[in-house]
Order: sequence, then C-alpha cells, then structure tokens
Amino acid sequence: MEEIKVGLEVHVQLVTLKTKLFCSCSSDYRGKPPNVNICPVCTGLPGSMPTLNKRAVEEALKVVFMLNAQPYATSYFFRKTYFYPDLPKNFQITQYDKAGGYPLAHDGSLKLTNGKVVRIERIHLEEDPGRIYYEGSRATAKYSLIDYNRSGIALIEIVTAPDMSSAEEARDFVERLTTILSDVGINVRDYEGALRVDVNVSYAGGERVEVKNVTGAASVEKAVVYEVFRQKTMHEKGIKVVRETRAWDEKRRITIGSRGKEFEEEYRYMPEPDLPPVIITEALMQKVKDEIGGSQEERYNEIVNDGINEELAKKISSDKQLYSVYEKVKFYEPTLKQLAANVLANEISYLMKRYSVKSLPDDVSGLVEILQNYRSIPDHDTAVDYLKKWVEGEKVKVSLQATSVNEIHDDVVKVVAENYDKIKNLEYTKKFEFLMGILIRKFGKENKKVLVEELTKVLSETR
Ligand SMILES: [Zn+2]
Repeated sequence: MEEIKVGLEVHVQLVTLKTKLFCSCSSDYRGKPPNVNICPVCTGLPGSMPTLNKRAVEEALKVVFMLNAQPYATSYFFRKTYFYPDLPKNFQITQYDKAGGYPLAHDGSLKLTNGKVVRIERIHLEEDPGRIYYEGSRATAKYSLIDYNRSGIALIEIVTAPDMSSAEEARDFVERLTTILSDVGINVRDYEGALRVDVNVSYAGGERVEVKNVTGAASVEKAVVYEVFRQKTMHEKGIKVVRETRAWDEKRRITIGSRGKEFEEEYRYMPEPDLPPVIITEALMQKVKDEIGGSQEERYNEIVNDGINEELAKKISSDKQLYSVYEKVKFYEPTLKQLAANVLANEISYLMKRYSVKSLPDDVSGLVEILQNYRSIPDHDTAVDYLKKWVEGEKVKVSLQATSVNEIHDDVVKVVAENYDKIKNLEYTKKFEFLMGILIRKFGKENKKVLVEELTKVLSETR
C-alpha cells in the first residue's frame, strides 16, 4: 500500500466572543449588511492601535487544554505580510514559531475513534481576514466586493503533524475536534464557516500539496480522496507532483491549482510592535482550567477509576453538569458515589431533558440527603419527586413517611420476639449487637440511625 500522509491546519473562530480580537467591534457578522461592524483598527487605517481582547486568550486556552497542549508562558504577535484586499493593512496579525517567536501553545494531541493519536504541533491566535465576493464566478467576475465585518474576528489555528493516513482519519479528526470544541461551548456547527481547514496531502513520499479553505468534516474527507486520486494518477504517469497551494471547489468536488506555494520568507514575518507579549500566568491557567473542568476523556477515566461502570461513566462524563454534581457528592460523602452515578445517569438526566432544565443547583446538600435516605424512600415515584425538587432548586427535606417508620418499629418488635430465647440471657450490649446484625441485614446500613432508635426503644420496653 502506498503511503498517504495528511496534516491539517484548522482555523476555528472563537464564536463565544462578543467582540473582535483587537478592537471592540461586534463579532456578530452573519446576516448583517456589509461593512457595518468596522472601525479604524479592523480596517487597518494608518495610526490605529490594536488592543488584545483578553477573553480571546482565555477562550483559546480552553481549547489548548482540551487538546492536551502546553501553553508558552510568553508568546508574541507577528505581522505576516501579504498583499491582498481581504486585509487592507497588507499584513495579518498572527503568531509565529520562528525568528524568536512562540505560538500560544505546543505539543498537544487528539485521539481518533480508531485509537490512533494525532500529534498537534502548535496552536496560535490570529485575526480573520475580510470576505471577498465575486459577481458570478471568480474567473469571470468583472469586479469583486469586499465585506470587512469578518475582518479582525478572533481565530485559533490548530496545526497537526502529518499523522493521518486516510481520508476517513482526516474526517474523524475534524469531527472529534468539533465535539471537543462544543465541550467548551465553542459550537462551530451553529455558525457557517466558523471552522475552515487547510488540508496538506502527500502521496508516496511526493511533495506536499495544500488544499486551502475546506469547510466541514465531510468536505475534508472528499478533498483528501480527490487529492490522493489526483496525485496517484500523476505518480502512475510518471509526472512529478509539485509543491503548491490548491483551492477546493465545493460544487465540483475537485481541487484546482490557484497559486504556487508561498514560502515563508515571502511573508516577511516581523514582530508586531503595537502589541505587548501575551503572558500566561499560573493564575490564568488555573482560572481557565476551573472553567472547563478537564477533557471528557479525563472525566471519564476519573469516574471509571472510582469503580463506576463504563456505561454510566460515559453518560456522566459527557455532560459537564452531571460530572460536576458527581464530583461534589463524592467529595461530600464518598460512600454515595455509586448511587450518585446511577441516579445522575438515569433519573436526573431524564428530569433535565423532561423539564428542559439548563443548569443544576450548585448546592448538592439536598441531593446528598435524598441519596442517604434513598433505600428508605417507599417507591421510585416518590424518589423521583424528591429529585425533581432538588433539580428545580427547591429545598429538600426527606421525611420518611410515618407508615414506613411504623413498619420499621413493628419489624423491630417482631425480630426481638422471634429471637427472645436466644437473647434473654445475654448482657445488653451483646443483645443489642446481635439484634442490630439481623436488622441491618434486613433494612440496610442506611437505615441504621432509625434502627438504633427503634431497637433502643423496644429493648427498654421489654427489659
Ligand atoms: Zn473594529
């Protein structure tokens, strides 16, 4: 089998941000008239000064941690020079990993569905250029139109090693990444064009061809399939594949030659003098980590390590709220973790769906109370009623119904009577221990408190 190597450069808009990366213009551009969300900074007017959106760094760091990458303590912005009307200042503000520069983060990884680990070389922050519209097709249009609403929107670029060896793996990478992004609230599926991929493909050790601007996982797969087919055909005919940049034609599902590959020196990278370095402090990292609570994989492993079965662990780890409640209950009362896992994965996740509950209460003491008394609650419907109260933020006080306490009392009397011959000559503590053993086996440990009370009462009456 001939070797296929695929590496991806994925551009992700930080869609959770309200404003652009270096100015306070609104980032909500979809469906807006052209050139309404613009200012001197994002249209690159002379003398305008960029200011870094701090929130963008925090959002980007979330992705960094989800992809197990390491942030650099200090990184810098660079100017990447190119002459094209989508960026009127003739350079894009981005980060660079050479010439003394560092990207935001390095050395991450993403595990594919088939278990293969794809290395992530670096992640950096940069600004999105504006959009160019052509009347009709790009080749025949007499003029082009430019909309700068998108210019300056915050992007992160995620660069992988060429570790994928099929079109399916490339597609799976983008799908897995999309899920991870939505785990931290970056729901790129909901925003057209929020995730765009440059796909690098090489076949049988030949030159690497870059297919620019492919949108969506399915198109990434098609672009790789086409490019492998094209390069394989050339290979068989003895034509050398040249290193180049090609465009993806979504309608015809082919790649077309667009321009020779720019080499890095042509971009004339230089440090951006108008922006200070990006400093990532321990405190900032901790703040972001607290906000995300680890990756799903980490959450899953932690729950499984608690001895919870895989099915429950999967369900709880996939929902950050369920996971957070699980953690709190476990901290409160470690012996309740198995019951908590069952109830969270079943009853509580059902209640959240049924009543469209968006957020669970921060205070879990009511839930702990329910769980502690769970076996004494007479039936499942009553238990669900209690849980519903907690989910809806009401105060919960589990009162065992009189009948069930009475039942316990009657049973205690019965147990004492049945064993009277065995216990009558024992001293009090021995007698007590013997009877408690029988009662605990019958009613469970969680009713110990009631049982002790009732047994004390009954024994004092029969003494
Ligand atoms: Zn602006």
